[in-house]
Amino acid sequence: MRVFPDPILRQRARKVTQFDAKLARLAADMVETMTAHRGVGLAANQVGALLRMCVVQPEDWDEALALVNPEIMRREGLREVEEGCLSLPGYRGMVNRAERIRVRYQDLSGKQLRLKADCMLAQAIEHETDHLNGILYIDHLIAHDRFFRIKVGEDGEVEYLPTGEPDAAELEAAARRMNQHPHLPQFDPTNGRPANPAAGQGRADAAD
Ligand code: ZN
Repeated sequence: MRVFPDPILRQRARKVTQFDAKLARLAADMVETMTAHRGVGLAANQVGALLRMCVVQPEDWDEALALVNPEIMRREGLREVEEGCLSLPGYRGMVNRAERIRVRYQDLSGKQLRLKADCMLAQAIEHETDHLNGILYIDHLIAHDRFFRIKVGEDGEVEYLPTGEPDAAELEAAARRMNQHPHLPQFDPTNGRPANPAAGQGRADAAD
């Protein structure tokens, strides 16, 4: 897993033109990595491949969906949501996301498809499409003080600590912990953890 501030996370991924077995293998690997880290979505540059592909799997889905060359055609509405990222382990922040999106993408065989999404799926697709453009959710923070360091206690109790910029040494340590304990909640986009009650009212977190 590539972790901030790895420069690949700031690069724009290239359009996929080869719909072959290699692409399918990469998608399968990404699904495996996302599942191991309890993420809801994962973009190819997070595993070191600069290709426009992401996988998403909201918690209530049996299977993951791979979106190749995804393009958000339309965004409607705005809601304040809590968000995290597997590449910024141990942090959460409040961002604005659309209520509904329409996305155009290709499947692994290259077929052009369209999808309407809302709630967690819309949030995940916005988050992952951002990754493919080198954008991280911390670029969308509602305010600097709406960014929190997460501490998970032995008993699974989650604490939200105010923080400034992500601290490189701490991120590295968090990434190590994450790779050792894939079952630690990692808070990638709305993975179903309870949200911070202090993080704002009128939250439209899709996490429940
Ligand atoms: Zn992410």
